[in-house]
Amino acid sequence: MTNITDYLKEERSAAWREELRKAKKNKERTDLTRVKMPEAPARERARSYVEVNSGLTPEQAINEASRCIDCANPTCISGCPVGINIPKFIKNIERGEFLDAARTLKETNALPAVCGRVCPQEKQCEASCFYQVKMNREPVAIGYLERFAADFEQSGGEISIPEVAAANGTKVAVVGSGPAGLAFAGDMAKFGYDVHILEALHEIGGVLKYGIPEFRLPNGVVDVEIESLRKMGVQFETNFIVGKTATIQELREEGFKGFFVGSGAGLPRFMNIPGENLVGILSSNEYLTRVNLMGASTQGMDTPVMRGKNVVVIGGGNTAMDSVRTALRLGADKATIIYRRSLEEMPARVEEVKHAQEEGVEFLTLNNPVEYIGDDKGRVKQIRVQKMELGEPDQSGRRSPVPVEGSEYIIDADTVVVSVGVSPNPLIPQSLPDLKVSRWGTLVVDEETFQTSIPDVFAGGDIVRGGATVILAMGDGRKAAASMHQYLQGQ
Ligand code: FAD
Ligand code: SF4
Repeated sequence: MTNITDYLKEERSAAWREELRKAKKNKERTDLTRVKMPEAPARERARSYVEVNSGLTPEQAINEASRCIDCANPTCISGCPVGINIPKFIKNIERGEFLDAARTLKETNALPAVCGRVCPQEKQCEASCFYQVKMNREPVAIGYLERFAADFEQSGGEISIPEVAAANGTKVAVVGSGPAGLAFAGDMAKFGYDVHILEALHEIGGVLKYGIPEFRLPNGVVDVEIESLRKMGVQFETNFIVGKTATIQELREEGFKGFFVGSGAGLPRFMNIPGENLVGILSSNEYLTRVNLMGASTQGMDTPVMRGKNVVVIGGGNTAMDSVRTALRLGADKATIIYRRSLEEMPARVEEVKHAQEEGVEFLTLNNPVEYIGDDKGRVKQIRVQKMELGEPDQSGRRSPVPVEGSEYIIDADTVVVSVGVSPNPLIPQSLPDLKVSRWGTLVVDEETFQTSIPDVFAGGDIVRGGATVILAMGDGRKAAASMHQYLQGQ
């Protein structure tokens, strides 16, 4: 099987044409089986930061694309929060027009190489695919194909830059450079605005950089997509904390006419159980930031990280999976997930749970920590765990965990990573007292326009939803851009 780089070398050569001919011939024989993503072997990858999924070959991509029957009413599009023209880009791939496929993606999605890798497709576009809905068969691998087209463009170095309107001279500021802010910035640049992204950290990308590890989303992939925004005229300023470096009012005085707050939900939650402040217990936010942003996986860095041998991660979301798999890569002999519900209720992407299991992570589902026990130096050495059973469904629709009386037992651990959710960062609401905030600390916005209680301030992503997904954050950013454009034109 040819990989993208070899393929590019041979593009339009005899070999390329022969491969396209073979793929088209295979297409005629295509059955309804979905392509399998090639992956690094579990034993090797569990100790390295190499990307786990290696991407489809051109031949696999053409064959998978040929499964799309180009429905008259393509329901997959409404399953995508940024409304990608999915049949169009898939048909581009089927015809071997890979660069056109990438261009189609960029019409509505500023980060296709990212979304193709991390979107929970099984709950979004692919959940609405004809095969899934009407035939109860495996959906077309929309996410894999999206990644293929975006990677193809990236490996060729010929990155298409969406057209931008003539500059209108109006300055807008974006608080935070996560997916919500990036998507907002891309659309505002297309409308002709002078867009400035102000980011508190020293790196652009939000969770894409400091949260999601390299073995799932290489930083280089994110950087290429950020570079496209830069080429569209978006300006980036790092180490800029809005509310401290400058307030929104000060920025207004500098001439900014509109603000989009995409500051995320980066405040870790803890369980407030006895012993939680022992040495060796930390939040997944801190754990992953040390490794992903501060390079702590390399020995001798200024910001080190605990390298436990027996690491227990509490939680069942993507963040918990990323933490437990990072623990293996940092040298843990044993890495365990403790989750209070069952495997079926886990919020993490199905693929991430499968990969973690293959890499040797142990899952203690229907269990919950109730106390941490330390040694005489104040370091965690054990966890008192209680068994749980499932009760009635709660507000989230999932069956709620109920403690089983008298079921407590003790397990050993030398490092505990707590990954039980996040809350919005309170800095922006604190610095803008007129901003309406919910009782969970999220910003209250109009559901259609994403405008806050302050007319020139719009918001979206995790600061509005609490911890959600990359693509929902991007969808918010796009909708906020359309309404801010309308608002500023009205001014
Ligand atoms: P963020 O990505 O959090 O970005 C906010 C940015 O704002 C940050 O860079 C922050 O430094 C900056 N900021 C905050 N306050 C200020 C300020 N006052 N001034 C300037 N800048 C500020 N979702 C998926 O869809 N798939 C996944 O596989 C997935 N895995 C995840 C794994 C982890 C470890 C985590 C933590 C989350 C994961 N998510 C995943 C969730 C997803 O990453 C988030 O929902 C998404 O990043 C939210 O985007 P955002 O732009 O709202 O915020
Ligand atoms: Fe599906 Fe996400 Fe791509 Fe939209 S961006 S088509 S939801 S993988």
